[in-house]
Amino acid sequence: MTTIKKLKDLEIILNKSSEKKVLGLVPTMGSLHKGHISLINSAVKLCDEVWVSIFVNPTQFNDINDYKRYPTDLRKDIDKIKSTNQNVNIFIPNIDDIYGLKIFKDKFDFQNIDKVLEGIKRPGHFDGVGTIVKKLFEIFKPSLVFFGEKDFQQTVIVQKIIDNYFEKIKMIVCPTIRSKEGLALSSRNSLLSKHAKKNVSVIYDSLLFAKQNFYKFSKGELKKIIKNKIEKNKGFFLEYFELRCSKTLKVCSKKNIKNCCCRAFICVVVEDVRLIDNLVITNEY
Ligand code: AMP
Repeated sequence: MTTIKKLKDLEIILNKSSEKKVLGLVPTMGSLHKGHISLINSAVKLCDEVWVSIFVNPTQFNDINDYKRYPTDLRKDIDKIKSTNQNVNIFIPNIDDIYGLKIFKDKFDFQNIDKVLEGIKRPGHFDGVGTIVKKLFEIFKPSLVFFGEKDFQQTVIVQKIIDNYFEKIKMIVCPTIRSKEGLALSSRNSLLSKHAKKNVSVIYDSLLFAKQNFYKFSKGELKKIIKNKIEKNKGFFLEYFELRCSKTLKVCSKKNIKNCCCRAFICVVVEDVRLIDNLVITNEY
């Protein structure tokens, strides 16, 4: 296991790596939980050499407070990775190594995929994601990259980056890991109060309700029922509940359901913390 903090040192090591090796990259922002560990385990299974990057990327935060309070614990993260697998390597760059003197994000044409769902309340977020992902892919030149289904819209964005710039890279999308109550694990969950933690399972329950009742109710009715279910809890606010095609992220309706793989996307703001989740509704593609 190697832990590297300087880009120059990383480049020396990567240059020594054999070209024949399958190099896997797991990009993270740290504060690791079992969701991240599942990505690392998938990478270990499929790759000869695995790198986990830990970098809280400033350009993907549109809200400075969200950036400032983002939980970090590098010591714990390193221990968690070590106890998962001794052979996994870690890259913990500082901001200068990634951005140089000027923190700047690229502008991408994501064909409007960045303008829906998370893109509405987080303008520029996906340009920030694209910028860091592209930089990391350029540094590591991985064969396989591992991302979580939990951030489904992000996987669609990353696939666009791959299609446009890195045709040799293959993305592996790993299933969402949940608490036993169904809450999708997220680094931000640690910011929730005890009261909120007791009630957040309503988010996954709402997705399951949508799946079970998709044919029974209209889209509008489903949304209304879910909004009521969620906002019954003090401090909970439904930011969006939408049904969109997994491939195109276009809105799906029952009329075009035969031509799309419908997925429910939800964002709930709980005590100022945005929690997102999603679930496949139909597989009829
Ligand atoms: P983050 O550190 O939040 O940027 O996440 C790093 C990677 O872990 C992303 O690809 C996320 O989609 C993935 N991830 C985060 N939470 C989960 C989870 N609960 N289950 C599976 N993957 C996850």
